[in-house]
Amino acid sequence: MLGEGAFGGVYRATFYVKGERKPVAVKVNKGNEKISTRNMIEDVCKEARIMRQYQHPNVVYFYGVCVEKEPIMLVMELANQGALDSFLKNEKNSVTLRDKLKYSLDASKGLEYLHQHGCIHRDVAARNFLMHKSVVKITDFGLSKQLSDLAHKYKLKDIQAKLPIRWLAPEVMVTATYTFKSDVYSFGILLWEIFMDGASPYPGMKLAEVRVKVKSGYRMDAPDRMPTFARNIMINQCWPQAPEDRGNMTEIRSSMESVLDGKVTAMGVRSMYMKT
Ligand code: AMP
Repeated sequence: MLGEGAFGGVYRATFYVKGERKPVAVKVNKGNEKISTRNMIEDVCKEARIMRQYQHPNVVYFYGVCVEKEPIMLVMELANQGALDSFLKNEKNSVTLRDKLKYSLDASKGLEYLHQHGCIHRDVAARNFLMHKSVVKITDFGLSKQLSDLAHKYKLKDIQAKLPIRWLAPEVMVTATYTFKSDVYSFGILLWEIFMDGASPYPGMKLAEVRVKVKSGYRMDAPDRMPTFARNIMINQCWPQAPEDRGNMTEIRSSMESVLDGKVTAMGVRSMYMKT
């Protein structure tokens, strides 16, 4: 078993694609009958067809879904280093600042790709990125996210209790409407997580406090070791209160790329060669 999420267990398996053996990850639904109504299965298949078209090095590849009988199973690319949040925590002594910048760039490319294909992720957070051979890949989008949400819905009396408040843009707390710009806000929180070795955002603050403060414009301080250009992206392009004042993922990816390619020589960047 690789892990456990809202939808169910995640297992390592072997999948045969045109006679070739492929190691894959399979998410198995815990067996909530309400998930497998006829309409639901039609929706699942429709979404699966869309997701199979997404092909990008920073997006976890989705092979397909098995809906013939219970339990529903989602088959996806296997990531050998697991989720980014636990990787950052476990490997904090060996991950360098340059690695963190590379992970941030990988993540920005994956999210940019989803946005270019019209997909709003709605749960951008380090736990929803996987590591494979040191490449960061976005996961839990589309179908996978919808089914996790449904699983929560049936399990929890209070769905609000399961909302990822620490990652939510202020306007989503008010309107419950997600946009590309609310993903961008959450991407800023992801940058904070990456440069804080996978720590949980707003340390020491209760959810109710986070909600009130973020709605009135409060933001976390940038992590000490975050290079200046990355702080600028996080604060000025991801975290403005008004969604229209935020950047889009193409702008953010391109700012990061120009620094990592060595095209920008801002003071803050020199420190990226230092070890954390
Ligand atoms: P999730 O249901 O997406 O929250 O996944 C629960 C856990 O299973 C994650 O935290 C990972 O550790 C693991 N996991 C999920 N998907 C994969 C995958 N494609 N490859 C490897 N591990 C995975």
